[in-house]
Amino acid sequence: MTLHDALAEARARLVAADFSHVEASIDVDLYARTILGWDRARLLTDLQDAPPGRLEPTLSEWITRRTRHEPTAYIVGTREFWGLDFAITPAVLVPRPETEFIVEETLLLLRTPGTNGLERSAALGTAPGDVSHATVRIADIGTGSGCVAIAVAVNTPTSRIVASDVSEAALVVARANAARHGVADRLDFVATSYLDGVDGLFQIITANPPYVKDGDKPAISRVTRHEPEVALYGGAEGLRDITGVLDTAAAKLEPGGWLVMEFGYGQEEGVETLLAARPALRMDHVRSDLQGIPRTAVIQRR
Ligand code: GLN
Repeated sequence: MTLHDALAEARARLVAADFSHVEASIDVDLYARTILGWDRARLLTDLQDAPPGRLEPTLSEWITRRTRHEPTAYIVGTREFWGLDFAITPAVLVPRPETEFIVEETLLLLRTPGTNGLERSAALGTAPGDVSHATVRIADIGTGSGCVAIAVAVNTPTSRIVASDVSEAALVVARANAARHGVADRLDFVATSYLDGVDGLFQIITANPPYVKDGDKPAISRVTRHEPEVALYGGAEGLRDITGVLDTAAAKLEPGGWLVMEFGYGQEEGVETLLAARPALRMDHVRSDLQGIPRTAVIQRR
């Protein structure tokens, strides 16, 4: 049996379990390269050789887990987000590509004079004209794997970030990721709901709250079913934690500060209604994801 045959057999098991040929190829390729520690070129050149001894039993075990629709990120233990490799376990939501918009919008705010943090930070103690060393105070609510907070921290050397989560198990993963990316000294992890018990005001708050409607549970994909419910479900309308994040932003953002928050399909009007009842906040703009679905709200504290 060649490596080619072993991989074909693995793909066939996934196709038999309802995966498309494309998905099966992508997964088997990634699993084999992860187990063998090879790049794609090496995998291709060695296809006609006997499979290396270390391929099994791990490949078969991983395929079995995948046939139960476990997320690939949990199986291989990592997922790329904003070009960085994050450790991922079943204690945290698997980072989604659309959540990268939170990072992008935050970095844009930090680079636009007059709209952000940097200008504000002059008022926080640094001489005007010398904002290069001013600390930007950021909070990330419901940090999960830490992917948003860490991506922002890596790209904003002057930031100091409080990252909260109600799940201690998630914070263990987030701390490991902060250490992996060399930003642990600028991140404070707090086990709390929203920013309860956290002192001070922030220039930017980021959040990807759980926003799936409780009633959508039966319809959720077989893959998502493996992810933590606390990271997914946000009450009857999916707006419970979005409401909590808005109230936190009204209380914990400094005047002129920004909230960058993800929300779910069809929730834009609900978010607007919640904002109308909170005159301290105003919608600046909404970013649509790559499928054209309104996804990321950029909201300013008046
Ligand atoms: N985007 C996720 C999903 O639809 C939900 C993530 C969240 O609730 N923040 O599966």
